[in-house]
Amino acid sequence: MRYLVFAANWKMNIGPVEARQYMRSFLDAGELPSGRGVWVFPPAVSLQAVAQSLAGQEHIVAGAQDIYWEPKGAFTGAISGALAAQAGARKVLIGHSERRHVFGETDADTGKKMAAALAADLQPVLCVGETLEQREAGKTLAVVARQLEAALGTKTRGEVTIAYEPVWAIGTGKNATPKDAADVHMAIRRWLTDRGAKVTRILYGGSVSLKNAEDLLAEPEIDGVLVGGASLDPHAWAELVRTRSA
Ligand code: PEP
Repeated sequence: MRYLVFAANWKMNIGPVEARQYMRSFLDAGELPSGRGVWVFPPAVSLQAVAQSLAGQEHIVAGAQDIYWEPKGAFTGAISGALAAQAGARKVLIGHSERRHVFGETDADTGKKMAAALAADLQPVLCVGETLEQREAGKTLAVVARQLEAALGTKTRGEVTIAYEPVWAIGTGKNATPKDAADVHMAIRRWLTDRGAKVTRILYGGSVSLKNAEDLLAEPEIDGVLVGGASLDPHAWAELVRTRSA
């Protein structure tokens, strides 16, 4: 059976008090269908509240939206992998497009953050994706390959999770068609397996909603979804994680 991942990126929304209420509503919706996992990425201040709400859950875990690469020290406002792990994170997003495009994070930064995540025993989810200009110039695969190489190096470890998120599809209401996404996923998977990855999981992100999730998940190349806006309501999210997949 395919294992499908539903990852919720709350971005800068849902503080710790609301996070506990959210998790209560989400968990009250009932057991997850088998063969599904839910990864929740709250803002750092809400990590511990989410992780505590998930005590005893096997297939629902919390993750950090970002970490800094240094292990500790005078880095005001930043959190390290170890601090995120101590708050209950098991996963971490690396190189989300908002980190790259709003905060100016570079490819080299993503490489340092990947190493820091692994050192702190956090499972990284590397986000890659092209801008509209790059897509229109036919550079999608070159951009994605450059981002993969900068973050992972020329050899990969045994198990890798990537989120392919075209920048033009994030928060815009425009999503890649299942075929557009599958073409890029296939190229990413080939890139990873050529460099030694044994297990690859590639999520699609970019304006995923209740309206398009079923069609996207019917595509065998898509191992799950990373969802921003449509994950902010616990009832709608509970419905989305129960989306049928052909
Ligand atoms: C995201 O935050 O990774 C994302 C894909 O956002 P949205 O679903 O709102 O496009």
